[in-house]
Amino acid sequence: MATPDRKIDLNRLQEVCDEIAEEMMSNDEWGEASGQSKELAEIDTHQFGIAVYTAGDDLIASGKAEERFTIQSISKVFALTLALEAFGEKVWDRVGREPSGDPFNSIIDLERHKGKPRNPFINAGALVTIDLLLSRKGKAESVREFVTRLVGHKVGVNRAVANSSKGGGFGNRAMANLSKFFDNLNHDVDDVMDAYAEQCAVMLSCKELAKAGDYLMVEGADSRSAAERKRAERVRRINSLMLTCGQYDGSGEFAYRVGLPAKSGVGGGILAIAPNTASIAVWSPGLDANGNSLLGTMALARLAEKMDWSIFGSLRRR
Ligand code: GLN
Repeated sequence: MATPDRKIDLNRLQEVCDEIAEEMMSNDEWGEASGQSKELAEIDTHQFGIAVYTAGDDLIASGKAEERFTIQSISKVFALTLALEAFGEKVWDRVGREPSGDPFNSIIDLERHKGKPRNPFINAGALVTIDLLLSRKGKAESVREFVTRLVGHKVGVNRAVANSSKGGGFGNRAMANLSKFFDNLNHDVDDVMDAYAEQCAVMLSCKELAKAGDYLMVEGADSRSAAERKRAERVRRINSLMLTCGQYDGSGEFAYRVGLPAKSGVGGGILAIAPNTASIAVWSPGLDANGNSLLGTMALARLAEKMDWSIFGSLRRR
């Protein structure tokens, strides 16, 4: 892991990203597009983009890094951040912090745990997190507004995708109802579902997503205000959840191959964080069996190896 004072060689990083983009486009397997909605199912899976936003505020990109895609479950990271800001540790009374070992849309565990989802990154957990967000007082920031602030300009929503998950989403609706049955959902199921559909349909490019993730790689500083320290602590916690739960049932394999905290979405995006060093976004709409971008994961494994970025130690002598 590069230390904060270790400068990234930007020319080398550009070369690495170009090599990766080229390699991904010539890979013979691209995965399957998500069958979740017509809009997602019809996308050309043979596409790839990568963007790296560095601790020094440089942005390096390659491939289709400006093409926008729906962030889907990556939005769960932003929702969790807002919930932790508003409610602190109380969030954990409502949702757990353990990997689920089940697919992202599985309902099985929810009954066993009396309506308390395993973690905030599976769908059941995201719905409870949104329920918390709906309880905030006054004019509270939505996930889309938060992302707009992070990116620095207004971000859009894919209306067709949002509408098809509002109309459908029967599995998610069942989970929301089951949480309500166990008194772990205070708002109307429809209101929770609408907010979920909206945040999942937020559209970002790799360049925008990498910039949005900047706040998750807070650099070490010798002196911090109490608020900055709190923020840094929160970021550590979010990263720990991204590592253990961010790719659902594929989180163990992902940690093994990539070694960085990350969150995927069925739109084909993945946001990965090299703490103190870089916020990385990759996109390729073909998914693996766990619903994580196939080429995106492969690309992150390459990048982590070539740049020697891993939270589990360095391959080089310092
Ligand atoms: N909108 C998707 C759903 O509700 C998001 C899931 C995902 O990206 N894994 O199932």
